[in-house]
Amino acid sequence: MSGQEDTWGSCWVLVTGASRGLGAAICEGVAPLLGEGSRMVGVARTAGGLASTEGLVKKANAKVTFIPVVLDLGVASKAEMEAALKSSFGGEGLPQPSRVLLFHNAGTLGNLKYLKDLVDQQHVQQYFNLNICSVVTLNALLINLVQSLTPSSTIEVINISSLAALQPFKSWGLYCAGKAGRDMLFKVLATEEPNVSVLNYAPGPLDNDMQNAARTETADDELRSMFSSMKNEGKLLSCSTSVSKLIDILKAKKFKSGDHVDFYDE
Ligand code: NDP
Repeated sequence: MSGQEDTWGSCWVLVTGASRGLGAAICEGVAPLLGEGSRMVGVARTAGGLASTEGLVKKANAKVTFIPVVLDLGVASKAEMEAALKSSFGGEGLPQPSRVLLFHNAGTLGNLKYLKDLVDQQHVQQYFNLNICSVVTLNALLINLVQSLTPSSTIEVINISSLAALQPFKSWGLYCAGKAGRDMLFKVLATEEPNVSVLNYAPGPLDNDMQNAARTETADDELRSMFSSMKNEGKLLSCSTSVSKLIDILKAKKFKSGDHVDFYDE
């Protein structure tokens, strides 16, 4: 395949949770595929983490303009999200991209307690606000913005999912419900918007901050020791390995819009 065929042309890319972990790896892994005039927006709460992602992106492809957006998606209002999108993508005279890719990657584990112990109502509400509600709003705002500013661009939405969307894990009620809910939201989006490509991608167990929390904070003894064994036995994946697989899936386009595809699927 020639270098030309290997690029995605001029793109707008939005990655939530871009300051570290899988989100930073998505930014770095996707950057080399982007053509002249591409803009990549990374959203997270930590300016320092976004600055380090910007460095990775610039090194991977100097043609890409990286725009760091410091925003707490757990509390951000619709107006704040809209303002961030408009200032990133809505500038006068920006060339129209051929593709727009939206990676809903930001996510948290929440309290890893048994459901009978989840009595902190505020925590539960905040959990779903970040992991579900903000995703719905940001998604709708970006689709509307793209359809009004650049209607001929193709839109691809990638929801970072998990095995926990399909399988119950003891003491992971919030996480499992959040991931299952997100998968279903994006399955619905796929049926509503035939012109939008939607993928629910489960990245596999990653060797990063979130897995560290899983090994130390999971209330269920059996599950906690399973996570420790996975680490000790070298079964965790690097974020870049998982991102390479995600890029292969996007390139091959073998999934049906709305599908849940796991790193380990053939
Ligand atoms: P990390 O905890 O390493 O990173 C989470 C990212 O989300 C950070 O960039 C963080 O940035 C951002 N984030 C967290 N809270 C907020 C918030 N309130 N507002 C904005 N951004 C926020 O996790 P991973 O990289 O592992 O997780 C990425 C995705 O992959 C998640 O959806 C996760 O569920 C999923 N996943 C992870 C697996 C794993 O083994 N790690 C396995 C399967 C799925 P900051 O703190 O700067 O705000």
